[in-house]
Amino acid sequence: MSVSQLARSIKASPTLKLNETAKKLRDKGEPVIHLGGGEPKSKAPLDAVLSCAAQLNTGEIRYAPSDGLPALKKAILRYTEEHYGRLAAPENVIVSSGAKQSIQVLLYAILEPKDEVVFPAPYWVSYPEMVKLAGGVPVAVEPEDGGFEPSVPDVADKVGSYTRAVILNSPNNPCGVMYSSDFIAEMVEFCEKKNLWLIMDDLYNRLVFDGQKAPNAYEFVKEDTDSSKLVVVQGVSKMYAMTGFRIGWTVANREVVEAMNNIQSHQTSGPATVSQWAAIGALSGVQTSVESLRLTLENNRNLMLDRLRTIPGVHVTKPAGTFYCFPDFRAYEKNSTRLAELLLERVRVVTVPGREFGMDGHLRLSYCGTVKEIMEGVDRIKWTLDPSSPNELFLGDRKLVRDWA
Ligand code: PLP
Repeated sequence: MSVSQLARSIKASPTLKLNETAKKLRDKGEPVIHLGGGEPKSKAPLDAVLSCAAQLNTGEIRYAPSDGLPALKKAILRYTEEHYGRLAAPENVIVSSGAKQSIQVLLYAILEPKDEVVFPAPYWVSYPEMVKLAGGVPVAVEPEDGGFEPSVPDVADKVGSYTRAVILNSPNNPCGVMYSSDFIAEMVEFCEKKNLWLIMDDLYNRLVFDGQKAPNAYEFVKEDTDSSKLVVVQGVSKMYAMTGFRIGWTVANREVVEAMNNIQSHQTSGPATVSQWAAIGALSGVQTSVESLRLTLENNRNLMLDRLRTIPGVHVTKPAGTFYCFPDFRAYEKNSTRLAELLLERVRVVTVPGREFGMDGHLRLSYCGTVKEIMEGVDRIKWTLDPSSPNELFLGDRKLVRDWA
């Protein structure tokens, strides 16, 4: 049996694979600390649960329109007006089964075979594979200064006659960096001038710290929504801690939304109706859960950074948002896959190798878990790497002895 060339070119999602590995080890009773996760641990907002439960209680759960329930689109339009100051019409919105599907269907709708899609590194693991699935060619931009925020000339350098779109994810998974307002403004202008799609993956844009606010690309757009090639992708997964409901959405010009709807109607039809009712509850209900999650994450970020800074030679950029940081471990090991394997094998800490995000030598560490997991997880990493660590470490009642240099 052989699978297609396309299938052979696609890697499994490393983050989902790690979740499985962590679960298998935990099921065997191993004292695993999962710093590789991509979902908040808080509960879904009560309004989401009640709205979903009310729909379930009717016992009549039917297909939804393939672009989403009108009531959810209405809630998304209100959300877009409140958080982006942008008025849009229902025809500018399509609801999908997670922001993942939003981006995938969008790429199907805009790419010709071999079109290039440019995005800064480090990037979310799924962009390259999604672009390939849609027949395109992923092109990563490594910031010239070795940092995490590209300049417009860095991006322009990778843009050529085959470039069709640019994806920006800010604040960024995996490094937590938030691109400056000036950069976003210049990118909007650049993409308008070059007639490129600009896809803003704004999934984390309310999970920002230190009193900052994420720049809003709509502020810099000259054209109206139906002439513009600016696309905003959003969802309830991260901000409302609703990863399992699988609801994301796209706001874009109506021509592309119609094309996306045609594709989605054959792919999955509309997202699960009960999940859409949950999202309506989340968007229309009391908003305190977003702020309380944000505050918890800010506190967790501070703890993780303080702890990481006790490991000699490890450099970490302070994340402005998300629930990830992306420390540089090259002082110990340049191969991030090898380092992640070592940490799992020796001290049962799950991390995600930076290589998966287009930057080797780093690990993505999540601080969306408990304070105990964060402190103990980083302490175990330090114990493994720092030669001045004590000789012994206890994982529960298991004693580990440091028999390496
Ligand atoms: N975009 C980014 C940057 C992400 O980190 C994720 C999830 O990890 C997604 C999109 C997809 O989110 P979902 O499909 O859960 O809405």
